[in-house]
This record gives sequence, C-alpha cells and structure tokens, in this order.
Amino acid sequence: MKKAPVIKASNLSKMFGSANKSLNINNPSVRTQAQNNGVVIALSGVSFTVNQGEIFVVMGLSGSGKSTLIRCLLRLIEPTTGQIVVNGKDVTAMDEAQLLNFRRTEVAMVFQHYGLLPHRTVLDNVSFGLKLRGVPVKEREEKAMAMIRKVGLSGWERNYPSQLSGGMQQRVGIVRALAQESDIFLMDEPFSGLDPLIRREMQEQLLELQAEFDKTIVFVTHDLSEALRLGNRLAIMKDGSIVQIGAPQEIMARPVDDYVRRFVVDEQRLAQIAGIGKKPVGKLRTLSGFYTERVAAGGEEDVS
Ligand code: ADP
Ligand code: MG
Repeated sequence: MKKAPVIKASNLSKMFGSANKSLNINNPSVRTQAQNNGVVIALSGVSFTVNQGEIFVVMGLSGSGKSTLIRCLLRLIEPTTGQIVVNGKDVTAMDEAQLLNFRRTEVAMVFQHYGLLPHRTVLDNVSFGLKLRGVPVKEREEKAMAMIRKVGLSGWERNYPSQLSGGMQQRVGIVRALAQESDIFLMDEPFSGLDPLIRREMQEQLLELQAEFDKTIVFVTHDLSEALRLGNRLAIMKDGSIVQIGAPQEIMARPVDDYVRRFVVDEQRLAQIAGIGKKPVGKLRTLSGFYTERVAAGGEEDVS
C-alpha cells in the first residue's frame, strides 16, 4: 500500500546572486548569460515527494546542490521559485512566525558538524528542543535521558560536546533530533566526517532507530554506498537538478546516464572487492542483501 506523501517539493529553483525571479533558467542561453553575470544556479526544476516512513536519500557530487535543497525545505535558504508542502502545509507561504513554529515542531535537522551547543552539557543539548517547546524540566530531562541511553551514552550526560569523540557527538546530534519528537528528519551528510568503521556503526544505528521510530527522513550524502545502504529511494543530483529518482536496485540496474553510471560502476567494483554473494557475516550484510531488505521495508515506485 502506498503511504501518504509527507514532503512535496515542486519545481524548486535557487539562484544565488540574482533577485530576478522571472529569469527563465530552463532556457539554455538565458542560463548561460546569467551564469556569465555571476549568478549561481544552485537548484533548477527540482520536484519530488517523500512518503511517510521512508528514508529518501539525496545523493550527488560536491556542489551539485544537495545542501541548498535540504535547507530550502525549511527555508533556511529561501528558494527563488517553487513550492514546498510539508504535512499538507504550504511552507513557501508561511510568514516568519509560522515558519519558526514549523521548524520547532515539525522537523528536526542533523548536520555534518553536529551543530551542538558547545557550552551546554549533553543532557541540555538533547533536551533543548523540548525546552523551546515549553516541556517542563523534569519531563524533558526524563525523555532526554531515555534517548541518551538508547544510543549508549549513559554516563556522558553531564559532559560537554568537546569532551566527546566525533562519533559520540553525532550520536548526541541524532538523539537531540529524536528528542524533538518531530516526525521529519533532515540530515545533511551527518556521517561524512566520521571514520569508516564508526560511520558504518552510525548507519546501522540509524536503521535501528528508524525501525523503532518510523520517521520520514531526507538524508543527504555524496557516497553511493551509504545511499544504497540507507535509502528506500534515492534522488541523484547533478548541477542543481535531479537526474534520477528510484529505489536502490532500480538505480543500480538502470542508471539513466553516464553520470549515474559512473557511481554505479564504482559501487559494483567495491561490491566485487567485498565479495558479494558470500555468506553475510554478522551485521555486515552484503550490499545486494541490503537492497532487497530496504526495498522490502518500504521501497516505493517513484511517485513524483
Ligand atoms: P552540495 O551540498 O551538493 O555540495 P551546495 O548546495 O552546497 O552543494 O552548493 C550548490 C552550488 O551553489 C555550488 O556551486 C555552490 O558553490 C553554490 N552556493 C552554495 N551556497 C552559496 C551562496 N551562499 N552563495 C553563492 N553560491 C552558493
Ligand atoms: Mg553540502
């Protein structure tokens, strides 16, 4: 059964360096002229939907517009054109107060550089979102402690972020987002700064948390392995546009162009080196195992 769309982005574009909304950037010569005049077209014609409970991965090379896109969903960056509807509400039409309330209550964001408050303890960082929402101190500390336990950080709650390793800080970032109790998570390369083994653990942990909490997640990465491991569906970005949207095995089986194919070939080489088809060892399932599992877990046909 198809789940309800939670996020719907239609025809988003973002130009840096020009206030002219009416520039027709679909016209190649207008586009070139604008770029010659110093306009950066970070997004153009981006449309997609994200369904309830899915991990929707936005993947692409550095500079392809991933961060601009995920920030536009919250209007942390103001899109130049287009519409964003979240939980049935038109985010693009919200005034300042509505927008603040929306950001506090309906979405949580996790960044690559953790974004923790340096002068607050782990406990305060995790409960901060609840404080903003007016949850009484005892209740918010209890909730925060429960979350901190869930990611194995009990005993660290009185420490400050700088006393924690990168992986631990990112765990705090994730449980802080969880503690906000919003149904939507936006994650911009949250694991990119971590060592490969820690990164792998964090991916596993995210999948475990997702199995329990059933959030709707937009996850940005430049790494196809990570995208395949986590995503129910992937959107592949190139130069500010989405070139392909599909379930992991569709992307692997039918890359639409050379840009996507290059990622896929790299990935296949890696999979060969890792010995796909051999018996999975413990939690480290084979990549093909991941595809089928993730798809069985809710991969949907592209609906955008
Ligand atoms: P990604 O996250 O995929 O690496 P970004 O969304 O950060 O890509 O950037 C997309 C493009 O927009 C890049 O060319 C980048 O240089 C440009 N860009 C991003 N932010 C700004 C800004 N504030 N001013 C001008 N150009 C920007
Ligand atoms: Mg980025």
